[in-house]
Amino acid sequence: MRSLSEFAAEKLGVLERAKLRRTPEETARAGIWVERNGRRLLSFSCNDYLNLSQHPKIIAAAIAATERYGIGAGASRLVTGNHPLYAELEERLARLKGSEAACVFGSGYLANTGIVPVLVGPDDLIVLDELSHACLHAGAKLSGAKIHLYRHANAAHVQTLLAAHRAETKRALIATDGVFSMDGDLAPLAELADIAKHFDAWLLSDDAHGLGVVGGGRGSTFAVGGAEVPLQMGTLSKAVGTYGGYLCASQPVIDLMRTRARTFIYSTGLPPPVVAAAIAALDVIETEPGYVAEPLRKARQFTRALNLPEAQSAIVPVIVGETEAALSASELLRNEGFLVVAIRPPTVPPGTARLRFAFTAQHPDAEIERLADAVRRRVIRH
Ligand SMILES: *Cc1c(COP(=O)(O)O)cnc(C)c1O
Repeated sequence: MRSLSEFAAEKLGVLERAKLRRTPEETARAGIWVERNGRRLLSFSCNDYLNLSQHPKIIAAAIAATERYGIGAGASRLVTGNHPLYAELEERLARLKGSEAACVFGSGYLANTGIVPVLVGPDDLIVLDELSHACLHAGAKLSGAKIHLYRHANAAHVQTLLAAHRAETKRALIATDGVFSMDGDLAPLAELADIAKHFDAWLLSDDAHGLGVVGGGRGSTFAVGGAEVPLQMGTLSKAVGTYGGYLCASQPVIDLMRTRARTFIYSTGLPPPVVAAAIAALDVIETEPGYVAEPLRKARQFTRALNLPEAQSAIVPVIVGETEAALSASELLRNEGFLVVAIRPPTVPPGTARLRFAFTAQHPDAEIERLADAVRRRVIRH
């Protein structure tokens, strides 16, 4: 077995030299603050956009569910893991998204890798935004369908690809992030919906960073004026503050997922406290529109202060180029008390390493000004 560890060590060496080795750093979170290596930093790297992961009512809901149903689901949902909280969560998600039904998965990653292979296979076609999240790419590969990547957010390119290839295949799926996770921009969902209709293709939007933040909290489909998106996927691990993934769609599509999606069938149900917490978090999202508007307002305060293009979501990238430059920019901000993690390839394309700023409802305005000032002095330098 020596070859195994030798392989791993050699591969790590190559990654280390390219500054691409990664190690999870121990991080204790308390609200918007994190502690790393004994240092307290203000975090602009959490996707907990509404700070709901630490909301007292939501924590209380999780504790109550744990006491009532236990800490684990005990089995797949199709066996005995479908505890009574699931139905309420799925109803609430469907209502929020304006769809007929919803299906909750173990995570966003599990959702996309489960959903896509149910809908398309080797005789079919997927047209995928090149900057879509890794799990959409993974789902596309798993499906065995022919994959065409289109230039980022470029609806005209989608049109060209479908015009060239749609006739050769049985079914076609257009898939994209609704809010792009590393760029913060919105997909052109209205245009994509029109193109999908014209070519009899199905549109899947991954709204991981939209729910609870844009479109009055209902997500990217609503931010672009209510485009017709028959497959609205997302996660409960970002603004909702808990864990899990979902698909909102018509009843037959949801029933088919529950019957055929392998990540739904062969993976254990979510812990009851996680599901209860998600329900309590959706309460906040549905009833506190002023609070829900805060992350985007804060992001725009930051882009205004730096003369950057106006933020479209809670995510603002500052692209610095090379991996080393991104790491040292992150270090400079850390010295000023801010945690802004550098994002490197392969998460983003080579040459586009960046700082990714994520704004949350509870970031104080004065700290955003101080952050913008530090970025101006130490990162952008103009
Ligand atoms: C985070 C993310 C996911 C994965 O969701 P998890 O629930 O964390 O597995 C999927 N898609 C996008 C766009 C994401 O940003």
